[in-house]
Amino acid sequence: MSTQLATDDRPLRVAIIGAGPSGFYAAGALLKKDAVVTVDMFERLPAPHGLVRYGVAPDHQNIKAVSKVYDRTAADDRFRFFGNVEFGTDITHEDVRELYDAVIYAVGAQSDRQLNIPGEDLPNSMSATEFVAWYNGHPDYVDLDVDLSVKAALVVGVGNVAMDVARILAKSTDELKDTDIADHALAALEHSEIEDIYVVARRGPAQVKFTSAEIREFGHLDVADTIVFPDELRLDAASSASIKDDTGMQKNLDYLQAYSEIHSTGKPRRVHFRFLLSPVEILSEDGKITGVKCERNRLRATTSGYINSEGTGEYETIDCGLVLRSVGYRSVPLPGVPFDDRRGRFPNEVGRMIDPTTERVIPGEYVVGWAKRGPSGVIGTNKPDAVETVNSLMDDVQRCKVPRAENDNPEAVDKLLQERGVNYVTMKEWHVIDELERAAGEAQGRPRVKFITVEEMMEQVNP
Ligand code: NAP
Repeated sequence: MSTQLATDDRPLRVAIIGAGPSGFYAAGALLKKDAVVTVDMFERLPAPHGLVRYGVAPDHQNIKAVSKVYDRTAADDRFRFFGNVEFGTDITHEDVRELYDAVIYAVGAQSDRQLNIPGEDLPNSMSATEFVAWYNGHPDYVDLDVDLSVKAALVVGVGNVAMDVARILAKSTDELKDTDIADHALAALEHSEIEDIYVVARRGPAQVKFTSAEIREFGHLDVADTIVFPDELRLDAASSASIKDDTGMQKNLDYLQAYSEIHSTGKPRRVHFRFLLSPVEILSEDGKITGVKCERNRLRATTSGYINSEGTGEYETIDCGLVLRSVGYRSVPLPGVPFDDRRGRFPNEVGRMIDPTTERVIPGEYVVGWAKRGPSGVIGTNKPDAVETVNSLMDDVQRCKVPRAENDNPEAVDKLLQERGVNYVTMKEWHVIDELERAAGEAQGRPRVKFITVEEMMEQVNP
């Protein structure tokens, strides 16, 4: 007779792929259940915490404090961390299906959306995703070629990521040196010649995606003024109606209004917020970016109530030498796992992975976070999202819809990784790296000084 999963006789064995916020919230939600569960978390990098370590801006340390919650989850005896293990090569889809009853993909959205305009592939035109990863010391982006010896940068999009990259470019090194920004980025920013940063929205000020805490910060920059054209703040009737009860958006507009009134106080840098402009071409001379040709837009309310932008046929060129597109993220497909390429995420229903050919649930496979719902929401949004997926999983366990792993020996995974020569990092080893980084930071009055490359991190645990 087969034993029910998630009992003392047969604990439920779950693999989580990805050690970012959504993975940790999923682990936390599983371990809180009144059921016998063990969780093994696999992460490609030696360091856990994903977007908290490599995405959240270095000058937003208060947001990074959430990693304490993840540390509490990681301290649970039923939790194991396998860092420096790549899904698809070091451990495959087949392996996890053999060794675990259920797998939860928590791989976030590592890639970005494109503008699909001429010139997008020029040197010094890149995604905000790459630029963020570079200044946050992500091992894959140490060598990103960012040329800051230009006079102006243009950021496309007006979400919170656009705010982060514009702010980092606008801040002095004095404002950044006490953070955990990567040393290579701090050194490059120290020699930045950028004086003007243009943040360009295709729609109007009532359709921005940033939040008021982020726009507020532009009024408190040491070396940059924030410039808004009063004319571009005028709202059409549909926009006014759409934000009537939206206090967050009203606050955004208040800040933009205040910036438009102050204009310039003569600081050496300026951040310009521009509205109703769509980049149509990145211009260059001798392979160097010289500017961005933008089409002026007007707004058009659609029958669904969504307020869209449409081109007017008039154009304007903004001179600049660096272009950062900040128009949203996409997940990256995983070997052996279905992927919805159009939406840039994993097909699922309430966190249950769906096979797109049969449109049926794949038993035992789940997804959380940005990989599940797309790149929206703040870090905390991933908590209820993970709870939802874990509830789907536990309902399936109750209804005996989760297939039992063929090999339920908890040591089998260690053996498999060792046989393959995978030098995995345990939670205890990560704590060694973490403490060394913090100690190096303390000596400099910073939260931490990050080890950047995988090799550097591995040297600390395998000297
Ligand atoms: P986002 O909030 O979705 O913003 C994307 C921006 O790109 C929008 O302004 C969008 O304009 C624009 N856009 C999209 N396609 C475009 C195109 N083809 N041409 C021109 N503009 C285009 O995305 P995000 O900034 O990447 O942020 C992702 C999530 O992370 C958000 O939920 C954000 O709040 C969160 N986040 C939070 C923080 C924080 O809490 N401090 C920091 C960073 C990120 P339309 O509106 O016209 O589509």
